[in-house]
Amino acid sequence: SEPVPRDIDIARSQTPKNVTELAEEIGLSTSDVELYGSTKAKVNINILERLAEKPLGKYVIVCGITPTPLGEGKSTTTIGLSQAIGAHLKKNVFACVRQPSQGPTFGIKGGAAGGGYSQVIPMEEFNLHLTGDIHAITAANNLLAAQIEARMFHEATQSDKNLYARLVPNDKNTRKFSAIQVKRLTKLGINKTDPDSLTDEEIHNFARLDIDPTTITWQRVMDTNDRFLRKIRVGLSDTEKGHERDCQFDISVASEIMAVLALTTGYADFRSRLGQMVVASSKQGVPITADDLGASGALMVLMKDAIHPTLMQTFEGTPVFVHAGPFANIAHGNSSIIADQIALRLVGREGFVLTEAGFGADIGLEKFIHIKCRASGLKPDVVVLVATVRALKMHGGGPQVVPGNPIPAAYLEPNCALMEKGFSNLKKHIENIRKFGLQVVVAINRFTTDSDEELGFLQRLCKENGAFDAVVCSHWATGSQGAATLAEAVAKAAEQPSDFRYLYDLEQSIEEKIEVIAKEVYGAEKIEISPAAKVQIERYKLQGFNNFPICMAKTHLSLSHDSSLKGAPTGFTLPIREVRASVGAGFLYPLVGTMSTMPGLPTRPAIFDIDLNLETGNIEGLF
Ligand code: ADP
Repeated sequence: SEPVPRDIDIARSQTPKNVTELAEEIGLSTSDVELYGSTKAKVNINILERLAEKPLGKYVIVCGITPTPLGEGKSTTTIGLSQAIGAHLKKNVFACVRQPSQGPTFGIKGGAAGGGYSQVIPMEEFNLHLTGDIHAITAANNLLAAQIEARMFHEATQSDKNLYARLVPNDKNTRKFSAIQVKRLTKLGINKTDPDSLTDEEIHNFARLDIDPTTITWQRVMDTNDRFLRKIRVGLSDTEKGHERDCQFDISVASEIMAVLALTTGYADFRSRLGQMVVASSKQGVPITADDLGASGALMVLMKDAIHPTLMQTFEGTPVFVHAGPFANIAHGNSSIIADQIALRLVGREGFVLTEAGFGADIGLEKFIHIKCRASGLKPDVVVLVATVRALKMHGGGPQVVPGNPIPAAYLEPNCALMEKGFSNLKKHIENIRKFGLQVVVAINRFTTDSDEELGFLQRLCKENGAFDAVVCSHWATGSQGAATLAEAVAKAAEQPSDFRYLYDLEQSIEEKIEVIAKEVYGAEKIEISPAAKVQIERYKLQGFNNFPICMAKTHLSLSHDSSLKGAPTGFTLPIREVRASVGAGFLYPLVGTMSTMPGLPTRPAIFDIDLNLETGNIEGLF
């Protein structure tokens, strides 16, 4: 058979239909959409009011086994399956996916639009600026960072009275507290509306945030893999002499604002989450929020367009929402609740919404359930678990894969024994999904080098070990046709009675919640909490943050904390180094090992291949 062309060539071989036509097909009116050219449109969140009473479609979550450098094809399967539900089952369908960060796109990973004949198109638009949401996050995040620095500077150089006079302008006609200042007064227990009635002590408390610079957790961000910004010194100009400070840049998608965007359910909720974000502590140990800095309204203004999901289409013309793309370690790695909420109502009772959870199911799916579903109140109907023969061979002890080098022969030649050894990983993920009371359909993403014997054997192993079904699919090579059987299996599994449950209650102690995830999901024997983490946990309990869900920041390359341990490790002790809080997003994140929040570029990044063809106007080298 013909070899499958490169992703970009396939993507370009299809002319996308005009997005207005797509919008019309799925029942949107012109007032629901704001066009960004002819292939992208923002769908207004206000549509949720109009659709409030509509029944919801089936909610399908696509996740994967523990990732390997060979790539498992979660995005490809999300898109391929959605195409098949449309073309083969003839049902309404929506795929909801994350917006990729430009950091990895120009670094090592390339595009993230799926692949082969199962992609979001146009993939250049998808992978580059899209509708500017990540730029908006960068702007909002850095505005807050600038405000923290400036406020500390002004407090250091002015008396209480001068500060107060500037914070509450001394003009007789306009002299009153702004709404956000009233919030701060309430927090301080000052029930006064006349700015002239505050005592000296109240003026002091109101005007001085008294930020302890060593406690600042809010960093500047940028959507570029720039490792030299991992540690920087700011304030080196003469005009800021004496206020120098060591800090860092993170990649934009690691900003808490991204996590807030992904977890919010509407304008009011968005605004209040932005205001609750804690950026530092005062010298007295009080958490300092974006509201204290007066910034939540301005942040909301910068984010007002980003709240609307972006409508695009698959290679076969079914609708896709692209919305939010939070980090999957220090954040929860799932696309937005708003997109899922809108899509579930647009497809109707008979339709399907597919959404994707990043990394392995131990991370992406666990967080989808405990964090995203808790925030949305939605309940999934079925789980699709993506696996490949090659990746299982790696979990069985197959050789390392070095980027840029040819794939070792072990992955290209039949070897049922090696695959069976690595099946332990897939088996553990199936068990975990069953613990959540959900049915699981394994999607075996076929590579041309897989043998029929291996594929048949793997199907049998899955079915013998708790999967509702296991289907070999080839949507990468053939599009919807290759996922027709998978679509049927998913539809059938979604009809099964479900017994959906969380593995922990929010009221349990922070330590207990961490322990449940470590033991039940990762397979750890116990956890070990460092002295530093114990102090942090006690502080969060005192501050009233005990009842947040837990967002583990763990390597995605192993079920354990040790990325070299493949398969399904047991008997290990999971170390908890630190625990931090994202109060606006609404979770605590224990650090299991060190997590880089600013990736770097490899020696030969994708940058070398990317160019604009001046004759055709096409972008080259995105893959
Ligand atoms: P994930 O979402 O798990 O990271 P992707 O769906 O992004 O994986 O796929 C990673 C890469 O692997 C893409 O470039 C895609 O084109 C390629 N790919 C996916 N499935 C197949 C397949 N069956 N055969 C060959 N290449 C594939």
